[in-house]
Amino acid sequence: VNFDSHTSDVVSAAVGAINLLTPGYALGRKYRAEVSAGELALALRPQRAQRVVEVSGSDVEELRDYAVRLRKVFTAVEAGSVDNACERLNAILRETQAVPVLSRHDGEPWHLHFHAPDAGWATSWAASMATALAVVLGSPVHDRLGICTALACDRVYVDTSRNGTRRFCSTSCQNRVKAAAFRARQRVT
Ligand SMILES: [Zn+2]
Repeated sequence: VNFDSHTSDVVSAAVGAINLLTPGYALGRKYRAEVSAGELALALRPQRAQRVVEVSGSDVEELRDYAVRLRKVFTAVEAGSVDNACERLNAILRETQAVPVLSRHDGEPWHLHFHAPDAGWATSWAASMATALAVVLGSPVHDRLGICTALACDRVYVDTSRNGTRRFCSTSCQNRVKAAAFRARQRVT
């Protein structure tokens, strides 16, 4: 599944932000979601890490509130309630005043942003993430938003595989589950 490259980048950023900013379980361990502004900025823009703008602690907390709400969109899809997921996303789109704006800056060609030009850092990111997830939810592959099925992991992912058979947040969780199944078989024989 291929969305346009900007959408794919922002979908990845949304997954990264949700997984960093929301507590729960990750890769078999309790996860407290204590994250620094620098780590968050790096996760959002890995290809431009060296040019990251100054992000404050309050920016992190503001984006965390949105990340918690975006996670609920994944939870709703996982529970089979696309209606609920779409209503949740629409609310975030409204609140963040997500609106397409063509923009040109930093020597880049004209490209489409999805937030008001004067929006703050967290609001801008939330508007963009909500828009990118809305593109997924409004497409035939709307059920590709998932939550890891491995034991003690609740990290989210977007399944871009051809068959849509992904079940884990990472190869790390996939390998954990395989290893556990292998050990279980060994005990039986
Ligand atoms: Zn996982």
